[in-house]
Amino acid sequence: EQFAELQLHPQLMHNIEVARYMRPTPVQRHAIPVGIARRDLMACAQTGSGKTGAFLFPVLHQIMAALDAAPDMRPRGCAEPRCLILSPTRELATQIHKEALRFIQRSKVFSVVVYGGAEMKTQINALDRGCHVLVATPGRLVDLIERGKVRLTSIAHLVLDEADRMLDMGFEPQIRRVVEREGMPPVGQRQTLMFSATFPKEIQRLASEFMTRYIFVAV
Ligand code: AMP
Repeated sequence: EQFAELQLHPQLMHNIEVARYMRPTPVQRHAIPVGIARRDLMACAQTGSGKTGAFLFPVLHQIMAALDAAPDMRPRGCAEPRCLILSPTRELATQIHKEALRFIQRSKVFSVVVYGGAEMKTQINALDRGCHVLVATPGRLVDLIERGKVRLTSIAHLVLDEADRMLDMGFEPQIRRVVEREGMPPVGQRQTLMFSATFPKEIQRLASEFMTRYIFVAV
């Protein structure tokens, strides 16, 4: 199967060609149509499987299409992302953001990354310029939300990457403070995509709490 068959937004398709991705990996082949159909998704996939593209491509496709239909004024002074991607570590968050930057080239989509252990001011300045995609580690995100620098009311796509690792690192309370926060569109009014290498009981529980009628993909 080729990427062309997935009918992605032309600018995204072009950027995928520039990146020289020849064909979708198995997790991409299964997850992208589910993502484009706006269904919730639980995907079990390892690092190296192409899982970043598996959630970025359907989300960027939808955001690019939405911006074509109704160009938005990115509100300034506070980020109101359409897509929030939660990631366990600074390294992984940075990697996802860099991958996003490759695929939003020459589009109207903006991405910002925030993580703990770095200066707050630089991140706040980036958020103040507005973004559609926000990649974040849980603790720093809670902090920024409480400072009024991130609003969750426009979230259409919520991604939990390496969910099992986030739980192992003790991030469940922070994840809940974000996902269950007032203003976050509830299950059914947002799309939720969860990725995890393993599928233990704790992840199954989160999946059934955070999603509805989700599609399960294991590669
Ligand atoms: P990931 O599992 O998302 O960390 O991706 C692992 C590596 O594979 C990254 O360097 C990606 O840039 C690369 N990659 C992801 N999808 C594809 C694809 N369809 N074709 C070629 N390389 C890919």
